[in-house]
Amino acid sequence: MGMDADVVIVGAGPVGSALAIMLGRAGCQTLLIDRCQFPRDKPCGEGLMPAGNRVLEELGIGLRDFPSISGVTYHVPGHGRAEGKFMTGSVGRGTRRTDFDKMLADHADATQNVETAFGCDARDVQVGSDEVLLGTTQGQIVARFLVGADGMRSRVATWMGWSRPARSRRYGLVGHLAARDHGIDRVLITLLDGCEVYLAPSSRDELLVALLGAKGHLRPRGVTVRESYSRRVAQAHPELAGCQQSTIHGAGPFWTRPSNIASRRVFLIGDAAGFLDPLTGDGMTAGFVAASKLSHLLINEADASAAYRHWEAKQWQRRLFMGRLALALTNTAALGRRAIRGLSKRPVALDRLLEVNEGSRSLRSLSPRDWAALGGF
Ligand SMILES: Cc1cc2nc3c(=O)[nH]c(=O)nc-3n(C[C@H](O)[C@H](O)[C@H](O)COP(=O)(O)OP(=O)(O)OC[C@H]3O[C@@H](n4cnc5c(N)ncnc54)[C@H](O)[C@@H]3O)c2cc1C
Repeated sequence: MGMDADVVIVGAGPVGSALAIMLGRAGCQTLLIDRCQFPRDKPCGEGLMPAGNRVLEELGIGLRDFPSISGVTYHVPGHGRAEGKFMTGSVGRGTRRTDFDKMLADHADATQNVETAFGCDARDVQVGSDEVLLGTTQGQIVARFLVGADGMRSRVATWMGWSRPARSRRYGLVGHLAARDHGIDRVLITLLDGCEVYLAPSSRDELLVALLGAKGHLRPRGVTVRESYSRRVAQAHPELAGCQQSTIHGAGPFWTRPSNIASRRVFLIGDAAGFLDPLTGDGMTAGFVAASKLSHLLINEADASAAYRHWEAKQWQRRLFMGRLALALTNTAALGRRAIRGLSKRPVALDRLLEVNEGSRSLRSLSPRDWAALGGF
């Protein structure tokens, strides 16, 4: 049977599109499909960490049209704030997802050796010894490899029998606020009772605000989503109370991890390979770094799956540690307040934690004084 492609990628979100660009440039015949047409929206905090920005810069994809982000601030009203900054010369970006995802999907579409089919829904898969058969609404596709980049509730993971239920009861509510010339160039995370308010610049005149927490805290009984969202925004940012709001989207529950992420012919990447919690803001960055690795392995390794599983397990361990740490500090008010106090006195410890979070520094490189600062000493 003839092949339609070396690699078929299901999902042209940021991670699937970046992977298609990398594979196409390396001479690999790649087919990228998505059930949506672009632009399409995706509930997200929209903060791209510097390590993710660097992957795109190395591909020659500059993000100068997207607002820059210089660091992350944690704030507990009445108990102070801790300000972390990204390494000198490093910058993150506020990536309004409608624009960002379309820009990357367009880049993929214009890349040599990449074919795209948008508005094409993948329906089922059969894995043979030499090829993968993917059923779609536009007919069957035959390829050497299949990559599921199809998000947190990955259908590819389900077809492979790898998906597992979400383990967290945390959800998100995401909206945008019109805020002319706001001048904000960092992510601001405000820890409220039972809920975190995550704010990031999405353009010069617009801010993204996401609420994260358990359902009952995000929307108490008898209150509409919009009312509850407005109250929490006003509580964390009284200066934004009167700003015009967009539609509010829900997301969650979080904390998903399939039982496997790679077999001989099928691979998972991005949120399809596991999603912890939005609080660490590292989802897109981790996906771009994984795309660099997987494209290299698919082209150069006879058994890419074993090498990918091995590499990804180490990344996942670090992300898991950081996810648990972030949740422990936000879920326990006393610990969160102590950490803010310690980190505000030693901001370099927070700078370093941000680097560990995005994978550009190892956990082992943190000093005892950094850990002491996190403990409030
Ligand atoms: C509330 C919230 C806040 C977040 N904040 C941040 C943040 O600040 N920074 C950050 O980096 N990350 C953040 N994330 C995570 C980030 O949104 C994800 O990590 C990122 O979108 C993953 O990209 P992806 O390409 O893997 O998947 P997605 O962006 O989910 O794309 C998957 C694509 O697959 C397509 N698809 C699905 N099924 C099929 C099918 N059967 N056939 C064809 N196509 C299909 C979909 O249409 C979609 O376009 C946040 C997430 C949430 C929920």
